[in-house]
Amino acid sequence: MPAVTSPAPLFNRLALLGVGLIGSSIARAARAQGVVRDIAASARTAATRRRVAELGLADQVLDTNAAAVVGADLVIVCAPVGVCGAIAKEIAPHLKPGAIVSDVGSVKGAIVRDMGAQLPAGVHFVPAHPVAGTEHSGPDAGFAELFVGRWCILTPPPGTEPAAVERLTAFWRALGANVETMPAEHHDLVLAITSHLPHLIAYTIVGTADELAEVTRSEVLKFSAGGFRDFTRIAASDPTMWRDVFLANKDAVLEMLGTFNEDLSRLTRAIRRGDGEALFDHFARTRAIRRGIVEIGQDSPAPDFGRAHPDLPVAPLPRPYAASEDN
Ligand code: NAP
Repeated sequence: MPAVTSPAPLFNRLALLGVGLIGSSIARAARAQGVVRDIAASARTAATRRRVAELGLADQVLDTNAAAVVGADLVIVCAPVGVCGAIAKEIAPHLKPGAIVSDVGSVKGAIVRDMGAQLPAGVHFVPAHPVAGTEHSGPDAGFAELFVGRWCILTPPPGTEPAAVERLTAFWRALGANVETMPAEHHDLVLAITSHLPHLIAYTIVGTADELAEVTRSEVLKFSAGGFRDFTRIAASDPTMWRDVFLANKDAVLEMLGTFNEDLSRLTRAIRRGDGEALFDHFARTRAIRRGIVEIGQDSPAPDFGRAHPDLPVAPLPRPYAASEDN
């Protein structure tokens, strides 16, 4: 039987700026798959930096983002969307020529605008969004399998060197993700309906139920399995992250919200008029959409709005995970 050899690391030094759920999952997965030789990390607070060191998530934990990027050939900003522009400004003078600079933000137009404007010529800017997550935050919340079988969307601005896009594609594939490339504006429109609007609805419905709960608090909790429980999990998502998402993707979210409100009005009218046929037709159409999602392998056992469910077993990655075109 031929000996199994580990592939050479794709990058020598990875700098992770922000080590919460996503940053710590990248650190764990990159280590497990041997795709980087060395990891440097920074975070906003000393408490998080200390925890990152305790967990052994990085070879070096630095006090500043500027110090963390020195010598890195891949820099991934894993902080909330609203601070990414300021981080790009801070690290710009310290970046290694030829480095790839990326991010994981859930909105891409604002990232291209805010980070792109700050980065110097001679580095390759390839924004990315791994469409995977949970409602948990912080360095303890991450896990190496988070990205397995999930999509990572790259939104390189026009003129980006194809070789840099290919290297980042190989990195995400090595972490188990499927990779697709699209313009930032298109990403924001698609994610507005598939992720941002569902989160807004969850935040709304849980808030509404809480206001009604003066009279029904015990019933709301007791019977929460009837659909409400899944909304509460989504509505537990990080407030900073989601505030930034709605501020940064305002136009696309408002456009989708307009369409949603029209559809809700149509269903409201059908209920008021006792129009069972209209209700049935609508529900039959949405059931078919759900079946389509299952058929293309993007099903989650729980309604989780495209997130990995942390409580469910996930298939472990073979070690080292061989990136393949099939992903
Ligand atoms: P998180 O768990 O709250 O972690 C955020 C990290 O960013 C923390 O380590 C925080 O440090 C750090 N940070 C904040 N400001 C910083 C600064 N100025 N410099 C350096 N580090 C800074 O958040 P997350 O869920 O990993 O989300 C991070 C990014 O991933 C966001 O842009 C989000 O849109 C995107 N994303 C999230 C999900 C999801 O489901 N959670 C999915 C896909 C993409 P402290 O702990 O010290 O404050």
